[in-house]
Amino acid sequence: MTELLSNYVSGQWQKGKGAGTALHDPVLGTELVRVDASGLDLAAAFAFARHNGGAALRALTYAQRAAMLGAASKVLQANRDAYYDISTANSGTVKNDTAVDVDGGIYTLSTYAKMGESLGDVHFMHDGEPARLAKDPLFQSQHVLTPTRGVALFINAFNFPSWGLWEKAAPALLSGVPVIVKPATTTAWLTQRMVKDVVDAGIFPAGAISVICGSSAGLMDQLEPFDVVSFTGSADTAAIIRSHPAVTKKSVRVNIEADSVNSALLLPNEAVGSEAIDLLVKEVAREMTVKSGQKCTAIRRVLVPESLYDTVAQALSARLAKITVGNPRNEAVRMGAVVNREQFNAVRDGLTYLKSQASMLHDGNTHALVEADAAIACCVGPTLLGTRDAAGSDAADRVHDTEVFGPVATLVPYRTTGNRHDLDHALQLIRRGQGSLVASVYGSDPVALGKAIPELTDSHGRVHVITPDVAAIHTGHGNVMPQSLHGGPGRAGGGEELGGLRALNFYHRRAAIQASTAVLTQLK
Ligand code: NAP
Repeated sequence: MTELLSNYVSGQWQKGKGAGTALHDPVLGTELVRVDASGLDLAAAFAFARHNGGAALRALTYAQRAAMLGAASKVLQANRDAYYDISTANSGTVKNDTAVDVDGGIYTLSTYAKMGESLGDVHFMHDGEPARLAKDPLFQSQHVLTPTRGVALFINAFNFPSWGLWEKAAPALLSGVPVIVKPATTTAWLTQRMVKDVVDAGIFPAGAISVICGSSAGLMDQLEPFDVVSFTGSADTAAIIRSHPAVTKKSVRVNIEADSVNSALLLPNEAVGSEAIDLLVKEVAREMTVKSGQKCTAIRRVLVPESLYDTVAQALSARLAKITVGNPRNEAVRMGAVVNREQFNAVRDGLTYLKSQASMLHDGNTHALVEADAAIACCVGPTLLGTRDAAGSDAADRVHDTEVFGPVATLVPYRTTGNRHDLDHALQLIRRGQGSLVASVYGSDPVALGKAIPELTDSHGRVHVITPDVAAIHTGHGNVMPQSLHGGPGRAGGGEELGGLRALNFYHRRAAIQASTAVLTQLK
């Protein structure tokens, strides 16, 4: 039997009472460790975090908590090699893909540590300037933001066991709110190990950070009115979270990051050979293959003028053909596995579903696996589909509402008539995604870009613009930077995370204080 990982609750490491669920290597098929949360006293765990962890964190100032985040990021940095090993084994990722999760998580934590310093040695924040409530400025209204006196429950997805933890924990802990993380079972090991390293280092007060690995049963039932829950995962599970009585009856604040059919848009009027086309091809190929396409922000639909469909299809297919797929331990391999057999089958099924309304432009099955047994390894080759022409893009509905969570994208041509309606058609197709996390836009004419971008911001949390002048320095369509908002309206879940210090809003309660100016100046 492999090791049963412990949970950390009520300030103690505790094993579940059951035999546990096994976590596997998706390339070799071997069992790695087991997780189990059965028999834990969840009521006591939540109460301990809420009362002990919360009180201790709130006694500190923002600057003091920021220093703790900085210390935690150093501990994680020192143990980075172990995280890479766990990631290779449990997520089947090549080094570059591991970096997105592990180093992305550490970077986000250290960025919040730096941003938090600027908040200073205070215990709550002013929100805006005082507003007069009468002619005489003697009586005014001042809004303040105070850390909520509850816990933050994180229910996370399998694809980012590191980044998914720290992008939420950094703003919560900086706000003074204790966190309880429940990682997705399949990849819980890395989250558990990172929490263990930080707990062992004794950086945060007891109860500030807890980890529960295993079933989600009973977690939502523990939530009280001042708690918050932040969920990342599928739209189906999101619907269960939203309809839980903690949310519907106790007004527990909820943030949802769900699935998303993100787009890349090449503007009209780019000639064959233009740099903007090259940049689009490079970025789409990268987005399709990083983490085997298991990124909520990955490009799923590639909007190009109909007249450039063949050009882009050929360039992209040629690039994808060079991607080596297989065992991530082999240095020659560019793309490892998807996370487990269930996801492998889901990608296969999703492709079959999309293919009924699209043609095959590059078939992932043509990629022979390197050092991996196709009968065991959950490796999928990159696959590019296309809806052939503008009429095909209008007729297809599946490409606009299906997120295949793997290395799969569809080329979606829009009308090319040479007038402004071409762009309108592209935008209309993008909106059929019903709200996404991110769209990237490619072009070389700043005026045309300036007109197109505001047409996307109502339906996307982030718009990433790639022009030739930023070719070497832009941060990537799918990379979520802590300085920028992450989340999206509609089917993307309607959530908002990160965005610099804006992330702290979720963990604070806003109140208006109506008082005399003399009193307001004494608020500290
Ligand atoms: P999932 O099946 O919905 O699971 C997500 C989390 O919810 C897991 O921790 C899971 O635990 C837990 N869970 C399952 N049933 C639950 C219930 N009834 N009550 C409470 N929690 C429950 O999603 P996934 O397959 O892990 O993740 C893939 C999806 O996440 C994709 O669609 C992707 O687009 C989306 N995603 C979105 C973002 C974003 O930021 N917008 C980021 C990453 C991924 P178990 O693992 O124990 O079942």
